[in-house]
Amino acid sequence: MYKKMGLLSFISIFIMALPVSSQQFSSKTLALKTTRYELAVKVDYEAEKIFGQCRLTVHNPSEETVSHIPLILYRLLKVTAITDEQGRAIPYQQKVLSFEDWEQLQVNYVEARLPQPLASGQSKTIGIVYEGFLFGYSNDGWMYVKDHIDKEFTFMRWDGFGYPVVGYPSEKVNRRSGLQSYDYTLSVTVPEGLVVANGGKLSGKSTINGQITYTYTNFKPAWRMDMPIAPYGILEDKQNNLKIFHFPDDKDNAGMILEGMKKTLQLYTNWFGPADNFQGFTIIEIPEGYGSQTDVTSILQTADAFQKRDNLTALYHEIAHIWNVRDNDPLPDRLESEGLAMLLQYLAQERLDNKPDALAKGYERLSGRFRQQCERNPKCTDVPIIEYGNEDLTDLSYTKGMLFFYLLYRLMGEKDFLDAAGSFYQKYKNTGATTEEFLNHLKQRSKQNLDRLYEEWIFGTESSRLVLEGVPVENLILRYMQ
Ligand SMILES: [Zn+2]
Repeated sequence: MYKKMGLLSFISIFIMALPVSSQQFSSKTLALKTTRYELAVKVDYEAEKIFGQCRLTVHNPSEETVSHIPLILYRLLKVTAITDEQGRAIPYQQKVLSFEDWEQLQVNYVEARLPQPLASGQSKTIGIVYEGFLFGYSNDGWMYVKDHIDKEFTFMRWDGFGYPVVGYPSEKVNRRSGLQSYDYTLSVTVPEGLVVANGGKLSGKSTINGQITYTYTNFKPAWRMDMPIAPYGILEDKQNNLKIFHFPDDKDNAGMILEGMKKTLQLYTNWFGPADNFQGFTIIEIPEGYGSQTDVTSILQTADAFQKRDNLTALYHEIAHIWNVRDNDPLPDRLESEGLAMLLQYLAQERLDNKPDALAKGYERLSGRFRQQCERNPKCTDVPIIEYGNEDLTDLSYTKGMLFFYLLYRLMGEKDFLDAAGSFYQKYKNTGATTEEFLNHLKQRSKQNLDRLYEEWIFGTESSRLVLEGVPVENLILRYMQ
């Protein structure tokens, strides 16, 4: 669909660009990076519509010159204008398309044609005005993306493309370009009585004519912005910069979770040293079935997990991610983020919940899960951990990755293992590191020779056979102690 515009610009677009519908996206490279995002959204509950305006700054770090900015929006959100820094119209096309490698996922693909191409190293800010409806993707097989507009609970987030996201309608191409890392300012206007939650810093709150606007800015470079809206209650620990948004009935649970957060932060700080530039952490309750998620400074936690008083495991897992170092591999395997967080969630259970066998039980549970993964997909058996990123098997870092870390923990001993993980964080927290750098760091700090463990678990697949055959974990430890 073409936006109405003067004949002249219509012709010039036609010469410059192929219509969006006839392009092959899977062969493209997404060069642009989002560096700044300013978003103002008004939610109209009567019309069940959102009205958004954003200023998006993109940077071209590639060697190539870029002629257009590709954007993805939810399929029922329409762009009504795109402008440059001076407010002049930028021509664009938009069309509802399916992802080339995910047919059920329909999006509004928008292409803004830059009047002057963006040279290598340059940045560009554009304004985008959009509006429309939000119904999520749960009917299209993406179960947890139930994002929609409702006074009980409204959700706009990256997963559901509730705001324009730089990308092509190809999972493969977007994944290849890696996560974004940007600063944001977010203003969301809702009727009084509703609360907009976000993991950033609340930098403003103003009321006009029964409408309240919440403004947030990010603490740390972000790769996503989440805007859950509900009649939230808020619980805060200002001394530790901890904040909880909870549904009205869940105040008691929120208090318990706040205590749990403090204890978990203390435990990990003792193990790994202080987290860099820690300015705050927020937990936001969302309804069951919406999928728990973690940003750099917040956790979105589903009500079922939020309400389980005796189960803070998910919290232990997510808080462990605060001590993650950015993975510099082009396609991260997620071993040192997810595998390690899985180990730490069980270790925190042992220490904080008085469950002395949590780690050993966790190992058995995840061995079983890995065996199931291999039954469903034989490729899981044959791909070594170091290739999980390249082979799109990063889910295995949660299972086999944890098994590897458990063996490593047992072989190195708790003190040396935690010291090595902590010194890795402190050494690489500003630069990031590759998985190989991570593994070398641990190896240098281990009294036990790790060559065979790495060979069979990281670079080879003998480990798959050992797990599938159910070799007892104590035998495995003896195997690598020789
Ligand atoms: Zn995780």
